[in-house]
Amino acid sequence: MNQIELIRALPKAELHVHIEGTFEPELMFEIAQRNHIQIPYQSVEEIKQAYNFHNLQSFLDIYYAGANVLLHEQDFYDLAWAYFEKCAADHVVHTEMFFDPQTHTERGVEFATVLNGLKRACVDAKIKFGISSQLIMCFLRHLSEEDALKTLEQALPFKDDIIAVGLDSSEVGHPPSKFERVFAKAREAGFLIVAHAGEEGPPEYIWEALDLLQVNRIDHGVRSEEDPALLQRLIDEKMPLTVCPLSNLKLCVVDDMAEHNIHRLLKQGVHVTINSDDPSYFGGYMNDNFIAVHEALDLSHEELKQLAINSFEASFIDASEKQKWIKTIHQLS
Ligand SMILES: [Zn+2]
Repeated sequence: MNQIELIRALPKAELHVHIEGTFEPELMFEIAQRNHIQIPYQSVEEIKQAYNFHNLQSFLDIYYAGANVLLHEQDFYDLAWAYFEKCAADHVVHTEMFFDPQTHTERGVEFATVLNGLKRACVDAKIKFGISSQLIMCFLRHLSEEDALKTLEQALPFKDDIIAVGLDSSEVGHPPSKFERVFAKAREAGFLIVAHAGEEGPPEYIWEALDLLQVNRIDHGVRSEEDPALLQRLIDEKMPLTVCPLSNLKLCVVDDMAEHNIHRLLKQGVHVTINSDDPSYFGGYMNDNFIAVHEALDLSHEELKQLAINSFEASFIDASEKQKWIKTIHQLS
């Protein structure tokens, strides 16, 4: 099979996707109507035009306008279910989804409403598609430490349904060190740890995520290349980076996919994976990201397989499941 066929055939794990970032215009319009929520768009077409944003602020405007229509457990279920259908189409067999409780609780939506809707979709996705999944709760880093601590408290009764905590939203000016105490408490409570670092923020933020937050994975991390000592540490520790190529292109982390460093990082032995981030906003889901990288950087069969293997090795599923999927990948020609 050729590389595109291989991409489609590979079983893949997705480790960096924000469920609120999978909100497609059609579903947003439908839920806004049934919940009688005013949004500043008269039609699906107008929402689609708003998705054609050109800077971070116009992205955040539509992102939060979208999140505002989510009120009931069924809304969160429908959001996650639509994403699972994309996973099934792309042969994503395992996914670890971020959700941002603060985006919803600050609007008066109960934590349990969000979690129960997402969880029910996860259970149904296993039954209908055979897709396994985990939930990762993220703190919005532009909000305060106190807010994050409060959110962690709210999550404790749901500990068994949340595998890890993470850190997202606008990076610059909000270093991981701001949340050192929050993450210490989260580790004590038994959560695994991830954090966005080194996307728009400097390599120092990655050092902080490693040393202060004690992360199990770095989300993005593409700016690690600017710091040779850091890069060597990532290689030595086999620290996974959840890279999001189309997101990097859309948010101008790179000007052209041909300039993306994921291929260089892979060749140097960094544990990189491919992910979709906010796929409905950034131009594509898992396979679109794989294909965009392949077309710009010409990855070999072995490299494409290695990226899929990396996704399982970096995932939080148990060792026997990892081995099962890795064996399947090796058997593909
Ligand atoms: Zn992200």
